[in-house]
Amino acid sequence: MTEVSSLQKKMLEEMKDHDLFQKAESFGLEYLSKALERNVYPSDKALSDLKKFDEELPSSTGDAYSVLQQLNDFGGPATVTTIGSRYFGFVTGSVLPASLAAKNLSIFWDQVSAMQVISPLCSKLETIVEQWLVQLFGLPKGTAAGFVSGSSMANFCGLAAARYRILKNQGWDITEKGLFDAPKIRVVTGRHAHSTVLKAISLIGLGKANIEWVDVDDQGRIIVDQIPELDNRTILILQAGNVSSGSFDDFKNICEKAKNQGAWIHIDGAFGLWAQASESLKHLTKGIEYANSWAVDAHKTLNTPYDSGIIMCRDKEALVSALHMTGGYIVIGEGRDGMYYTPEMSRRARIIELWAAMKYLGKAGIDQLVTDLHLRAAQFANEIKTKKGFKVLNDIVFNQVLVQCDSDEITDRTISKIQELRTCWAGGSTWFGKKVIRVSVCSWATTPEDITKSVNSFEEALSLVQS
Ligand SMILES: *Cc1c(COP(=O)(O)O)cnc(C)c1O
Repeated sequence: MTEVSSLQKKMLEEMKDHDLFQKAESFGLEYLSKALERNVYPSDKALSDLKKFDEELPSSTGDAYSVLQQLNDFGGPATVTTIGSRYFGFVTGSVLPASLAAKNLSIFWDQVSAMQVISPLCSKLETIVEQWLVQLFGLPKGTAAGFVSGSSMANFCGLAAARYRILKNQGWDITEKGLFDAPKIRVVTGRHAHSTVLKAISLIGLGKANIEWVDVDDQGRIIVDQIPELDNRTILILQAGNVSSGSFDDFKNICEKAKNQGAWIHIDGAFGLWAQASESLKHLTKGIEYANSWAVDAHKTLNTPYDSGIIMCRDKEALVSALHMTGGYIVIGEGRDGMYYTPEMSRRARIIELWAAMKYLGKAGIDQLVTDLHLRAAQFANEIKTKKGFKVLNDIVFNQVLVQCDSDEITDRTISKIQELRTCWAGGSTWFGKKVIRVSVCSWATTPEDITKSVNSFEEALSLVQS
């Protein structure tokens, strides 16, 4: 018989050591209690203390408490408070308390979402949430959902399904024969397509140089009249929520035409698809139901913990076949095996937090959440417009505000100052060749006071730049 090692003995004890887990929890709760007040960005000291992690891999086993302690002492202070109420960088959601708490519980379970037999719970929740999402977004019955890491992956999956179907319709099985000598697939998209869409195009082998670009208007929307003649060999990629301006393509007009011409329509709706869940904003997503596939994030607008994205596809067989080597079959059976709808086999159980978020909010809560993000963005725009030296460049249709100062140089320096002041955090971008400050309102926690405080911080930053 082999012996129990001292390491194994130690870990068997740690498994029963509630103090260890309570320590982690109390560190976490301490952080949470200050999350709405602490600096949005780590202090210079916290950043410089990251060098405490510069060490060799320990030669021997250490102590679980001291691992936690180091993480808390030097990791916590160096976090960016994206879960707070004044982080407006990129398009980054906060976390709903109920969803975070559900994640907290589920980390003890460490479920794998690959197959029903590995986790009946995940299989059940994925089945339920798929139905909820199809209803919430008003998508066709039978639309399938795959739960992936984010919209990068969701875009990839949508385009893979499109590629499968277009080639299959021409008698070419991509999963068997690959792309060499395959019939050509056309890709049509707007000049403001998100970089992850371009990445997906290149990853699935269609080639960025083959893109037929369509010009966009001053809000970043595809100009409908400029869309070329489409056909049944074309993937048309549209956008719900321009990552800078928040604008939406004219789905209704574009989709009707594209559908008649037989094209596959994919919508990148990473944060914008949720407009459909808001009574006052759903005019923006009118017509999305005509598309074939949709990419959307839960970790942005819905405020689930990271990472959580969803690919939704009307053509379930195409999605499953594209992502699964064994080709054209659908898993019919009692239970759902999640791995058929995603590139990965093993995945973390992100469905738990997504289920918890939707179960908690309900339809009315999701509507309120999405609508509020818009109202706060509109408030930001209205308040910043009254401040001397600032201009707003976009129509505030959703949650994005593009702010400009009198010159690119002043804009750049103001961004740096805003970031230094640490009252709020916003990043820079370019909009039709001009430097802008991009404000993305994505946190459920952002109050009207947070907006005013942040606008004042912008004003202070500009005055420091000018002094
Ligand atoms: C964020 C974003 C993506 C990429 O999503 P990830 O979740 O970061 O992978 C794609 N498209 C748009 C419009 C986005 O805003």
